[in-house]
Amino acid sequence: MLTISGIPIEVCKKNIKNMHLYVKPPNGDVSVSAPLSMSDEAIERFVRTKASWIKRQIAKYDEQARQSEREYVSGETLYVWGKQYYLQTEYGKKNSMVLSGDKAILTVRKESSAALRECFVREWYREQLKTEIERVLPKCIKLTGCVPAGWQTKYMTSKWGTCNTDTGKLWFNLQLAKKTPECLEYVIIHELTHLLERTHNERFLAYMDKFMPLWREVKVTLNGQTLDFME
Ligand SMILES: [Zn+2]
Repeated sequence: MLTISGIPIEVCKKNIKNMHLYVKPPNGDVSVSAPLSMSDEAIERFVRTKASWIKRQIAKYDEQARQSEREYVSGETLYVWGKQYYLQTEYGKKNSMVLSGDKAILTVRKESSAALRECFVREWYREQLKTEIERVLPKCIKLTGCVPAGWQTKYMTSKWGTCNTDTGKLWFNLQLAKKTPECLEYVIIHELTHLLERTHNERFLAYMDKFMPLWREVKVTLNGQTLDFME
């Protein structure tokens, strides 16, 4: 264990070539993996040069933790397909959410808890995402020539999507409905490309460059907006 600027950092020596520094969600725990041959002094020097980056990452997780502690009351903001909306909570008998201008009008029962509202909003995002996947997927299948065995949506906090290369099934994170439609397209193409190549090797990257030449820029956008406990 190492302490830099008051931040505890877990050190792990492994049989690896390069050092890797991680700030992990959701709490911003910091750890560093280093080659077995590296001295403690060298590890400490390396981590010190990264101190401001570490602090930025921790601040980001703090902000994201606050983001996820929603009450679903008027004045909060939420993102739908990359656009920010101001939540306007109204009371009624039946739950609904309607987007109008820059407002997201959420109708809930007055006595509903934040957890119930969260649950409703999450399912609302799921519907948005499913509709958009159904619209975009055929285009992505045509582009990549890969047909998945099936797909599903799931609330995830550490991945945008996954591909089970054994079954050919894809999973998409519900939180993609908060991002721009372009981000969803990128994740779909990425996961479909795994049906051609399991790992993120040169071959995989070459496919991505072919299918979506600007994928790197889209990836930056994807990871640049805050989400619930998202890396
Ligand atoms: Zn991947």
